[in-house]
Amino acid sequence: MHEEERLRHELVEYGKKLLMNNLVVGAGGNISAKHDNTFLISPSGIGFDEMRPEDLVTVSCDDGQTIGCGRPSSEVAMHWYCYKQRPDIEAVVHAHPPTTVGVISGGGMIEPMFPEFVAYVGELAKVDFLTPCTNELADSVASALQRVDGVLMVAHGALTVGNSLKEAFMRMEIIEESARILVVSKMFGGPRVLTSEERRNIKQLDAEKYRAELLKSKKSTN
Ligand code: 13P
Ligand code: ZN
Repeated sequence: MHEEERLRHELVEYGKKLLMNNLVVGAGGNISAKHDNTFLISPSGIGFDEMRPEDLVTVSCDDGQTIGCGRPSSEVAMHWYCYKQRPDIEAVVHAHPPTTVGVISGGGMIEPMFPEFVAYVGELAKVDFLTPCTNELADSVASALQRVDGVLMVAHGALTVGNSLKEAFMRMEIIEESARILVVSKMFGGPRVLTSEERRNIKQLDAEKYRAELLKSKKSTN
């Protein structure tokens, strides 16, 4: 299978995973992956349960314009700005994880409460609500990516990036898992946030370094 065809199938697969893991509902969310000097992005308004490999739209990394046919996600500028801001990334995932949106929109923040978060997500940024699908939102999210690999968008959703779709998806999963843990911990006196020393120790573990490297590999190895 050619690289582009493989990517198209992988995007379909990860779209379904977003749906199955309750990270999006309906036609919410969008995903993309880089291919040479272009990126392939999910089409606008189509649920991930319906999206086929041939529906992915090709967009130029030079000018953010569509190449060929299809209507790209309405957040195409956000994905394009992310690739411009971070030449090191290969994939972008935007979802509407419900517990995360509830936490951040209620004024909370998601912090490291367990080792996987430290190893795979690290720090997160939070940006205030801006109208979806606008260059202002794209700019605000992409700017935040200078410091982090995951951005929380108040009253909207979250965006993660990675060296592979697998990595970007896993970051999204871990963010939502953290939000769930945070909510439960509030019933028992509040979260136990890991200290900076504890985080440092986790990052230095050989086991975590090995697992993080595995994730960076381009091919998904489910
Ligand atoms: P699209 O269906 O156009 O990708 O829009 C979904 C979305 O999440 C907008 O923020
Ligand atoms: Zn959205």
